[in-house]
Amino acid sequence: MKPTIVDHIGIAVKNIEASLKFWEETLGIRCTGVEEVADQKVKTAFLPLEDSEVELLEATAEDSPIAKFIAKRGEGIHHLAIRVENLEEALAELKAKGVRLIDETPRKGAGGALIAFIHPAATGGVLLELSQR
Ligand code: ZN
Repeated sequence: MKPTIVDHIGIAVKNIEASLKFWEETLGIRCTGVEEVADQKVKTAFLPLEDSEVELLEATAEDSPIAKFIAKRGEGIHHLAIRVENLEEALAELKAKGVRLIDETPRKGAGGALIAFIHPAATGGVLLELSQR
């Protein structure tokens, strides 16, 4: 497993359009488009920086993980994503090490990336996403 960079930081928001006002107009970071990830019941907006991105996440259903997160903790940082070159390999390695995974196999994330989540119990309280572009 070879983690390379912080791919992005995911932020749970109630309303992407309202949040984009701050990120785009105040900070001047241009959003590359809003995409729905039906599988996770979220809408996402990516705001690219030089070598990492900010991901805004809005729930599209009441039983979305993002809706549950906001109900419990309010808006805020939801996950940290680091990039790996080979996600299948990384997951096999973590599994062999006994790491608690949320996703044992890669799934499709926004922007065509392959992603998998590691349980916060294994990482010191941070929901960690592995991402292969
Ligand atoms: Zn993410």
